[in-house]
Amino acid sequence: MDRRVPSRRNFLQATAGGLVVSASLASADTQAAETAQATRVVNPLSGDVLQTQAELSADAQHLIEEQRSIPVVGKTDVLVCGGGPAGIAAALAAARAGATVQLIEVAGCLGGVWTAGLLTKILDAENKSGIMPELLNRFAAQGSSVAKQTDGTVYDPEIAKLVLEELCVEAGVKIRLHTRLVGAVTDSNRRVVAVLTESKSGREAWLAERFVDCSGDGDLAAHAGCRFELGVGQDCECQPMSMMALLTGIDADAVRPYIRETASSAKRLLLKLMEEHGMTPSYRAPTLRHLHSGVFSLMTNHEYGVSAFDANAISESTIRARREIHDLVNGLRRIGGVWKDIAVVATAEQIGIREGRRIRGRYQITANDLATGLKHEQSVCTAKFPIDVHALNAHGNKEINREFKKGGHQPYDIPYPALVAEDVDGLLLAGRCISGDFIAHSSYRVTGNSVPMGEAAGLAAAVSIQKQLMPHELKWSEIKS
Ligand SMILES: Cc1cc2nc3c(=O)[nH]c(=O)nc-3n(C[C@H](O)[C@H](O)[C@H](O)COP(=O)(O)OP(=O)(O)OC[C@H]3O[C@@H](n4cnc5c(N)ncnc54)[C@H](O)[C@@H]3O)c2cc1C
Repeated sequence: MDRRVPSRRNFLQATAGGLVVSASLASADTQAAETAQATRVVNPLSGDVLQTQAELSADAQHLIEEQRSIPVVGKTDVLVCGGGPAGIAAALAAARAGATVQLIEVAGCLGGVWTAGLLTKILDAENKSGIMPELLNRFAAQGSSVAKQTDGTVYDPEIAKLVLEELCVEAGVKIRLHTRLVGAVTDSNRRVVAVLTESKSGREAWLAERFVDCSGDGDLAAHAGCRFELGVGQDCECQPMSMMALLTGIDADAVRPYIRETASSAKRLLLKLMEEHGMTPSYRAPTLRHLHSGVFSLMTNHEYGVSAFDANAISESTIRARREIHDLVNGLRRIGGVWKDIAVVATAEQIGIREGRRIRGRYQITANDLATGLKHEQSVCTAKFPIDVHALNAHGNKEINREFKKGGHQPYDIPYPALVAEDVDGLLLAGRCISGDFIAHSSYRVTGNSVPMGEAAGLAAAVSIQKQLMPHELKWSEIKS
């Protein structure tokens, strides 16, 4: 196959049948053409693409891509990967400290599990300062009466999307949605210098002085070569995934005993009701929450044994979870009475992922820190949320939690060094991918902690540039001041 840079017309013909696979290796005259291909510039607005040239391995098990020149499309002081609770706080803090900030998010909105995941409840936010109360105030002020009554901790995901975009735009954060980070580049000193993304604009490169991994799953850090832990035990068992849903067609007063915020027995009653009518929810503590004027959220699904890094398994669990939600809502509707008009408004676009990589940082938060109530001189915030390990399989809810909880917990500090990657320079971590063990993660993972972690990481990124020091060379007291 001719591997020279095709004319636009030839190119369209060449790609009409799909992926182009080179049948032979370079011929004599291809050196110049290769260089031209490698440095070819495309204008994504024209719909043109950087054509893939690749060779199928002899056993047809791999496709060997040829070298391509990737356009550098951005250069900022700070690049934040992931626009969830941790990521938006990191981006806002860095921008407000004077840094230029690029935020890269794979979903079509900011907020992560708050919005694309339709979470609706913020836990462990009460004792926090800074961006966390600022967000709660905005969620309450722009939200429903329920958001106001709960000080913004029960929020409407659509309001959250809007507020987060408004705040980031106001702060001057450059937001790139629909874009997935797929690679990271370190220099000879193991300092992260660039990341690669894929989107409708093709494969792109971004340069920055500092990077903050807020992807939840630790994607940036893993691509940069950081060590990490996953789940528990030899099989790396992880907490289950859960799909959330929004519902309508029920009257809040009529179903009051089943609403999480109004009755402590609500989950138990809802499970009993479902079971009495032949339904067996995979999550044994189904949670119904009233958001506003007849809109409710429901969590009633657990997907066990699904790896956050197995796209096939995530796809299958997403389809299974959505089916389960509709089946359960149809079952409730068949009960009639106060349930006769219940209907699904939306299921989450992104199934909720509780666990991904826990990246090796310069401090690892452990179960012992929770048991003893760690007090650390470099504390970025104090976490109060208890150990919360959801069942790892369909059989063991209470037993597993009891076993893991036996060490007990007290409020404990999240130390700044747990947010600093150990294996590379210039990389900070925030949210559920920070450095901690399985038990500690089950507590600090909630979003009331992700936000202050993100705020600390974003501020540290900006300050470390100003002071011309690497993040690990700074103490939290110097950053704060
Ligand atoms: C079903 C469920 C229920 C929960 N219940 C609660 C609750 O009631 N209250 C609470 O406070 N917490 C709850 N949690 C925990 C909490 O939601 C998470 O631990 C928290 O979202 C962590 O925040 P984060 O910013 O680290 O990650 P996330 O919210 O997961 O955000 C990560 C962001 O990064 C993006 N991203 C990921 N990879 C890439 C990539 N390669 N390139 C670009 N972008 C990327 C994602 O799209 C996402 O927007 C729950 C979690 C789940 C799954």
